[in-house]
Amino acid sequence: MKEQGSLQGRVGIVTGGARGIGGAISRMLADDGAEVAVFGLPADRDRTETLRARLNGSASRVHFYEANVGEYEACRRAVAQVVADHGRIDFLVNNAGITADHTVRKMTVEEWQAVLQVNLTGPFFMIKAVLETMVEQKYGRIVNISSVVGESGNFGQANYAAAKAGLIGLTKTVALEMARNSITVNAVAPGFIETEMTKAMPTAAIESAIAQTPKQRLGQPEEVAHVVRFLIDDRAGYITGAVYNVNGGWYM
Ligand code: NAP
Repeated sequence: MKEQGSLQGRVGIVTGGARGIGGAISRMLADDGAEVAVFGLPADRDRTETLRARLNGSASRVHFYEANVGEYEACRRAVAQVVADHGRIDFLVNNAGITADHTVRKMTVEEWQAVLQVNLTGPFFMIKAVLETMVEQKYGRIVNISSVVGESGNFGQANYAAAKAGLIGLTKTVALEMARNSITVNAVAPGFIETEMTKAMPTAAIESAIAQTPKQRLGQPEEVAHVVRFLIDDRAGYITGAVYNVNGGWYM
């Protein structure tokens, strides 16, 4: 019998789960006993190996599946493979995301579309691909990684902020539609977290973000992963349609 609080026997997907916030989530869930399917682009296969090398007892519970979340057929195929390999899907963490920052006057149509495709249409594709399995099981946990800027807006990030705000609307709607099937759907909205994504920002922008954050520092990927872990727990079944801020007080 599984210990209370353990994820032993649970199976799920973390998109973009090989590095950054997704890597911390994959690590934490595998350490707590879950089988974790990392969905990523071809380069993420090697990154998943690097992640596995840093795990001790749980390395064998992390598996890589190639899937661009912006392509429905790729999502559908990889989800079917997870079901074939592991027999069920208990959780989905929609974490994969990209940025292409410019003010609206300078933003190209392609930059708008690329960010919406990965950050908003991708989670819709993934949810659509897993939902029938979760409904059949009468159990599921879906966590969407939004962003503080989806709540506040942010200069130069119209595409990203719109996608992350849309993800909150998607979260609440699927939460409503799935409540009777014991499937919870929640969003986590991180502030500025120390990953490759923030390393790509100009130093002045990072310094300004830190100065404006009441906690006076960047967040760590593990601090986001903890909230995701909490929402995935069997005991979090009465929490649905919620948005959890992990932003050091930057936006309240
Ligand atoms: P990251 O280090 O850039 O990692 C993003 C991951 O997503 C990478 O593994 C990337 O793969 C993968 N990915 C990108 N496009 C993909 C696609 N089309 N299909 C599958 N995988 C794809 O970013 P992060 O900072 O950890 O961010 C993770 C999530 O948190 C994102 O949704 C981001 O918007 C959100 N977030 C981050 C922050 C922050 O401050 N870092 C704040 C708020 C919200 P590759 O490695 O191959 O590119």
